[in-house]
Amino acid sequence: MPTQDPNVRNKNFEEVALGYTEEMAVNEAKRCIHCKNKPCQTGCPVGIDIPEFIGHVAEGDFEAAYQVIARSSSLPAVCGRVCPQESQCEGKCTRGIKNEPVGIGRLERFVADWHRENVHTAPIVPAWNGHKVAIIGAGPAGLTAAGDLAKLGYKVTVYEALHVAGGVLMYGIPEFRLPKAIVQQEIDGLKKMGVDFECNMVIGKVLTIDELMDEYGYEAVFVGSGAGLPRFMGIPGESLNGVYSANEYLTRVNLGRAYDFPNFDTPTYPGKHVTVFGAGNVAMDAARTALRLGAESSTIIYRRSRAEMPARHEEIEHAEEEGVKLFELVGPLHFNASESGVLKSVTLQRMALGEPDASGRRRPMPIEGEVFEHETDLAVVAVGTRSNPILLEATPGLELNKRGYIVVNEETGETSIPNVFAGGDIVTGAATVILAMGAGRKAAQEIAKRLLG
Ligand code: FAD
Ligand code: SF4
Repeated sequence: MPTQDPNVRNKNFEEVALGYTEEMAVNEAKRCIHCKNKPCQTGCPVGIDIPEFIGHVAEGDFEAAYQVIARSSSLPAVCGRVCPQESQCEGKCTRGIKNEPVGIGRLERFVADWHRENVHTAPIVPAWNGHKVAIIGAGPAGLTAAGDLAKLGYKVTVYEALHVAGGVLMYGIPEFRLPKAIVQQEIDGLKKMGVDFECNMVIGKVLTIDELMDEYGYEAVFVGSGAGLPRFMGIPGESLNGVYSANEYLTRVNLGRAYDFPNFDTPTYPGKHVTVFGAGNVAMDAARTALRLGAESSTIIYRRSRAEMPARHEEIEHAEEEGVKLFELVGPLHFNASESGVLKSVTLQRMALGEPDASGRRRPMPIEGEVFEHETDLAVVAVGTRSNPILLEATPGLELNKRGYIVVNEETGETSIPNVFAGGDIVTGAATVILAMGAGRKAAQEIAKRLLG
């Protein structure tokens, strides 16, 4: 798929990948050999009938392709852009054994974009079936549950803590990877179907789940509140001026619209030498954002080696093409302040890989005496997140696991409180968009079964 030139795109926030033309999409679709056992479909967490949709693309019937995808996925324009296809559908594609797998994600993106640009039918709003459901959190899990229930005639209200809906799709993943207009269009579609959005509502503070059910009359609640509380590394100097969590940094840029400077005059210091700790998608997003804001250098620090980096392969490649430096097998010891008390540098330790740890990955071990200082005036910590306790602490009887995430029945998505369901990152810990959507869909099906029989 064509992309913007790396030396151009690292200075703007427009989308990196430019998308297939119709001709490219048809040619790519023709590479599919329509395997009888459909290994690609088994690799898709929501089970899209991939060969069927690709078959329609090969015939040039893009709307038929869209309808096949829409049976299983409610956010295909998002998933086509951000799913880790290499470990899902494309990782199982037979063409990938000897050659490049079929570009399933790229075709999904093409089909969803084609539908958005060419088909403008008003959504069918079903008559109210007499039942009310509340959704907490407007990320992919909550949006999927809301859409599926609204289609069945439920009156759905989504309560969102932030001032905009979309969850990580809006505040976390940058514009150059997922244009916000695409997410907003999905949300607008839900509004047209009658879904109400109540933003600036922190459930657990403003209202409790008990109040939603007992006083507001919701018969079921779905909790999709994500895992948005940042983790830190716990090293000296981490509270210095100039050290951010990735969540704060990306939220300032995305929601504060620092990327739209000077139209939006958001005070975000770009940093001269930016250092990002971690090597997942979040770290890549932060490091690439730093270059776009004008940093002279942007460096990723990772304790393990490149092979263990959890980010999507494409994000790592794109980051390097744009000029992000990857320091592998290096860990931070402490941050250092200048005389005026702001961040000046970080002291780093070289590592080697030892035996595998509990996660199955080889444990990074310090190499004695191999310590050096790295100049940095802005640091971003992207080493993971955990659940936000506000809602959980305000909900007595809600069973949590040892890691602080909600325990649900695997078959139904129901929590320890009857008719309260949960799914997405608040159950699994930080995971993926498609898994959160799948959980929202599963809970919606169970709620529908319970309330309508
Ligand atoms: P979220 O998207 O976190 O949404 C939860 C929502 O609930 C938020 O809007 C939050 O404000 C709201 N909320 C929280 N508490 C309350 C409360 N008490 N009351 C009301 N509302 C509340 N995944 C991929 O598949 N591919 C990627 O490329 C990718 N890149 C990522 C990049 C970044 C920067 C980040 C942070 C994550 C990325 N992920 C990626 C992970 C993915 O975005 C998440 O797994 C997914 O968004 C989880 O969906 P969710 O609906 O469970 O939660
Ligand atoms: Fe087509 Fe690949 Fe799926 Fe086989 S595995 S049906 S080639 S997309």
